[in-house]
This record gives sequence, C-alpha cells and structure tokens, in this order.
Amino acid sequence: MLSIRRIYDDVLPINKEILAQVKDILRSRFAAVSEEAIESIGEKLRNPFKQRFRTILYVAEKLGGKVVGFALLLHEPEIGFTYLDWIAMATGRSGGGIGGALYEKVRQESGVLKVKGLFFECLPDEEKYCPDPGLLKENRSRLRFYEQYGARPVINTGYEMPVNRGDTCMPHLVYDGLGQEPPLKRSYARRVVQAILERKYAGLCPPDYVKQVVASFKDDPVQVREFRYVKPEVVNAGVESRVYEQIALVVNDRHDIHHVHERGYVESPVRVRSILKKLEKSGLFVQMKPYKFPDQHIQQVHAPDFVNYLKRACREVEEGKSLFPYVFPIRNKTRPPKEPSVLSGYYCIDTFTPINRNVYPAARRGVDCALTAAREVLNGRRIAYGLVRPPGHHAERRSFGGFCYFNNNAIAAQYLSGYGKVAILDIDYHHGNGQQDIFYRRSDVLTVSIHGHPRFAYPYFNGFEDEKGDGEGEGFNLNIPLPEVVEGEAYRKALKRAIIRVEQFNPTFLVVALGLDPAKDDPTGTWSLKARDFEHNGQLIGAMGLPTVVIQEGGYRTRTLGVNAMNFFNGLIKAVQEWASKKHKPKNKIHGLAFRQDICHEDTERVRKLVEITGYFTDAEVDVAVELVRERLEKEDSSGYHFVMAEHYGRLIGYTCYGPIPCTQSSYDIYWIAVHPDYQGRGIGRQLLKETERRIKAGGGLRAYVDTSQRVQYASTRAFYERCGYLMESLLPDFYAQGDGKVIYCKQLVQK
Ligand SMILES: [Zn+2]
Repeated sequence: MLSIRRIYDDVLPINKEILAQVKDILRSRFAAVSEEAIESIGEKLRNPFKQRFRTILYVAEKLGGKVVGFALLLHEPEIGFTYLDWIAMATGRSGGGIGGALYEKVRQESGVLKVKGLFFECLPDEEKYCPDPGLLKENRSRLRFYEQYGARPVINTGYEMPVNRGDTCMPHLVYDGLGQEPPLKRSYARRVVQAILERKYAGLCPPDYVKQVVASFKDDPVQVREFRYVKPEVVNAGVESRVYEQIALVVNDRHDIHHVHERGYVESPVRVRSILKKLEKSGLFVQMKPYKFPDQHIQQVHAPDFVNYLKRACREVEEGKSLFPYVFPIRNKTRPPKEPSVLSGYYCIDTFTPINRNVYPAARRGVDCALTAAREVLNGRRIAYGLVRPPGHHAERRSFGGFCYFNNNAIAAQYLSGYGKVAILDIDYHHGNGQQDIFYRRSDVLTVSIHGHPRFAYPYFNGFEDEKGDGEGEGFNLNIPLPEVVEGEAYRKALKRAIIRVEQFNPTFLVVALGLDPAKDDPTGTWSLKARDFEHNGQLIGAMGLPTVVIQEGGYRTRTLGVNAMNFFNGLIKAVQEWASKKHKPKNKIHGLAFRQDICHEDTERVRKLVEITGYFTDAEVDVAVELVRERLEKEDSSGYHFVMAEHYGRLIGYTCYGPIPCTQSSYDIYWIAVHPDYQGRGIGRQLLKETERRIKAGGGLRAYVDTSQRVQYASTRAFYERCGYLMESLLPDFYAQGDGKVIYCKQLVQK
C-alpha cells in the first residue's frame, strides 16, 4: 500500500529519518545536485520565513516507512504560483503510479493554495537541443506524462537561453494551468520567471541574464506549446478540490462497554455515536484504528499505585454492579483503607464516578486512542482527533472523578513532550484540574483552562485564577474562570486571552481538551454557546497553525453534540488551511523577554545546550562557546569577553558574546550570537544585536565587527547582519576551507 503525506519539518526523529531517505533519492537520481543544496532541504522546511518561497515536501511511502518517491514544491503566495522543484522516484521510473500520485497531490495542493499556475522545468524533448538519445527518450516520456494534465512548455520566449556560452540542453519552463486554463498573462508570467530565476538560481544567473529572460516574454498572453503527445480531448486537467488534509480520527471502539445505567449519569455511549454520525458524512476525517501502547505511558502521568488500583478494583467488583465512593479522606495523604467500598473514596474526588467491571478496559482503550492520535501528529499530520469516552481531564496524578479515570489529554501531552514543548488548552465547561495537577511543577507543558468559576462549577476546589503553577512550573498554568452566564462573544474574549498565552509559550504541539458542554442547554453547564460559536472557536485555535491533537472531554446534550463538534472542526481546518497558505510574518512581540549581562555558573551548561540545539555549530565550536563563558566567570572583565543573555520566563533563549579587540582603540568583535530555534524568526536576534551595540557604545566602542562563512548555509545569517545595518568590509577567500571564505562585516556605531 502506498501513502502520500506531507512532511512539515525535520525536527522530529521520524521526519529526520524520512528526510534522510529523500536526500538519498536525490543523490542517487541527480548526480549533479550539490551536497549543499541537498542538505539545505531540512533548513528550508524548518524556517519557511527565511525563504522567499515556502517549501512543501510530500513523500510517497510504502507500508513500514520506506520512501519510494517525493515531490518538493515551492509556494510563492504574493505572486500566486507554485514551483515544482523536484519530483523523483527511488527506482528512477517517473510517470508511473507513484509519480502520477505525487504529481496529483502537488496539483491538489496548488489548487488549495489558490495559485494561478504551477510551474516547473523539464529538459527538452527536441533532438536539436538534446543530442543524447537515451536522455531524449526520457525527456519525451516526461513531457508526455505532463501533457495528460494539460501542462506544456511555454514557447516563444528566451527561457531556454544558455546562461553560459556553450550550455546545451537548457530546460523548458512548463506551465500547468491547474484545469482553470486561464490565458497566461504576460505581466504575471514575467513576475513568476523573475522570482524563479532570482531566488532559485541566485548565484547562478547574473542580473543581466535575468533581465534579458524576463524581457523575452513578449507575447500577451504568453503562448504554450501545442499538444504533441496526447489528444487535447483526453486531457484530464481538473483538480480535485479536496480539503487540504484530512483529520486523523481515532475512535474508542470499546467505549460502549462502559455504560453506567444509574439515573442522571449523563456520560453515556450515545455521546460518541452522535458525534461520529455527523463527522462521518463530512469527508473531513480519515479513521484510524487505535494502536496498543504500553502501560508505561500512563505511569508517566499517573501514580503507579493509582493505576494498579483502577485495574484491580474494576476486576474485583461484581459484574453489573457499580461501586460508588461515599467516604473520603482529606486528599489521599493518609493510609489507604482495606474495605473496597471505602478504598474507592481514597482515590476518587466525588460521589458520582463509579468503579465497575468495564471502566478499566474502556478507559485503557481511550488512552490508546489518545496516544494514537498524538502519534499521528508526531508523524506529521496537522490535526488528529481522539474521540473517546470516558473523558479524562478531571483525573489527577493520583485520583479519578468527574466521569474521568485516566487523563487522556495529559497522557498525549506527556508523550509529545518528549519531542517538543506542549500546550494543553482545555475548553471544556469544567476546569481541567487533572492536567493542572499533573503538570503543575513543569515548564515544558503549559496548561490553560477556560471554565465555569469554581464557586459554582465542578470541580469546585480548583480552577481559581491564582493557581499559576509551582516551582519550575510557576507561570505555566493559566486558569480563566468565567461567570455563570456566558455567550459566544464573551467566550471568545477569554479564548483570545488563552491563545495569547499559548502563542507566547510558542509550543511545538497543541493538545485541545475539547469539551462541548459550554453549549446552550447542556445539562452540566450554564453557558449558551451556539453551533456558530464552536466554529469561531475552532477558527481562533486553528489560526495558531500548530500541529494539534484534539481529545474529546465533556459535552452531554446529545442532540447538539454532533453539530457542535462538526462546527468546531470546520472552523479549525478552515483556519489551518488559511494559515498554511499565508506567508508568515515573524512575530516580533514576545512578552516577558529580559536581558542581563551578569553570568553565573549555570550559564556554562545553558549556553552549551543553546548552542548545540541551534544545530549550526560543530562540537569543537560548541566547546569554544562554553570556554568563553568559563573564561568570563574566572577572569571577569579582564577576560575581554562580555555577554548579553536573553531570557524568556527564565529560560535562556539567546545570547551574544562580544569584547574589545586588543590593540585597537574602539573596535569590538561580536564573537557569538545564537538564538534558540523555538524563537528564531521572531526578532530576538535583532534585539540582541541592538542591546549588544548599546553596551559596546556605552563602553566607548565605535565599530562592531562580525564575521561568518561564505557558504550557502549562512546566507540567512549574512542577510540578517545586512538587515541590521552591517556592511561587508572584506572577504577572505578559502579562509575556512577551499571555497569557504570568511566574510567580515562592520557597523559604525554613532556616539551620541
Ligand atoms: Zn465538562
């Protein structure tokens, strides 16, 4: 079985592995491509902002993760076109099933991005331009393949003009109108060609050449070659306007064994069914089977004695009977009692969440669903939804309650936290006391909850605004309790506040604890959100553009559960699509950023970690960076090394190291500048540099020098210095290695 999926970046280990396979294909298929270009793919994916193209990578995989082909698409949102940079198959056979599937995916994506055209290059299929018969045959078969979609070379332009005298076999520029077949307007085509030549072939095409080629587009509309291989009437140029990407849906297939028949027990199997019924019809979801994960994932979040208790107690209770707790210690610090009916109160927080035979297997399966959804997102999917019951967000580290047994969303978050920072946004009507308790002392998982104020709403004892986290976790729990009467508008205000906090935190993953009980007429709530409001909420959350795991929590008005869930996901996916199709401006506003210049002993390790994680530096360079910190600690000012440390909520997120250049009057060297990858593209580097210059000036400095490598990888670094007012003063060729010169920049600092 073949599947095609999108790879968003190379941050996750699994994606690194995929990308390594992609690079191998490139190397084996295109001997002429430089190693630098191959290596830069990961960087392009990770930092779409640094590029003037957004890079989109699709891989075709066989079951088991073997990559058999890939397509690399560049997106230019301003001019409105996509450029197919590479499409390659591991076996070398293009145009077959895999190539066709990939090309269709690329067209589909281009359609969703609403661009006016898809462009790419194809080597010529005319004998006079391509004397090699083997290559000629290959080129013909390629162009035949693309003709089936209506894509053909533009003609009567100078695109094929050799860059250097004697260049042969120059590629055609092929235009795919994506089934809309609009005439290719000259002004548009010129902008497209200019962008391609200037950005993709920067360094290869001199400005004069670019100008000449652009000017050679004289026809309006620009002409496209006649069909050569296929009859126009068999061309199937239509682009299926399917959704951007389907949401992975993992349903707890054992939820209905858990059915408490007691009166008033609103947490019933029909909840899942009514949601599922709506989702199934939408075509937005692709259902996955839950995978079985080991218990260890639960025990990282819940105390082992608690996990064992649930397992055992459920097994021991009489079939068909429910055991309700009725007597409680004041939190479970005392010794656990022996009597089963009393023991349940030791681990439970209320009188209405029973133990019965099926609780454990149902809840255990729910955990598998949550983890499966999380794994889908880890594997590169944008959104995954664990449609589970029993819910989980009231389950704390060592207690259950509020219809909840295992905290599904916390378990998913814990799993993801091994790969990056996680924010949990709980939008259930009731406070998410479970994950608050579990992550209260941690700063790598942010917990945010919007809920009915505990003065009138369950769980009554938690959810106050002044619960902000503890120790390392201080500042990483946000409670937004709201009054009894809340409508859509007021809710959105609170949600926006929550989102601002999440964005400040800048997580790698988002977990949404989706409660549908803020809805009008929910039997457990007091608010009155309507279907439209859920769509709005989804939109606001999706606009963050974060890889998102949604876990079902509460929501008990079965008549509207399905429509509200559907609306939420409609909003979510719509916003995610919009987010993906836009060029993202770096967010300059980071709250809570602070600079300091004093160095402490902890900074040696913190600097080491920071420099390492940027991935730019060799081990030896990392050692040097650390050595400078040590030197500073030991000799203070006489070391000649000064530092500016940038911190965000106490976390070191960037720094510079600078100092006066010996034997000069007022020249300073900036030795190091590093910004944590989580914060890159957000103006931190610029602020750090500014702060550093300020301090150099204060110390009497008039000139600041920085140097960097000439290599392609450092193009963005060089551009950064130039943007910050540094001028290139000299280039020392072959300084670092053959072909790798050192570029020296200088900025004159004006003394006031
Ligand atoms: Zn709830």
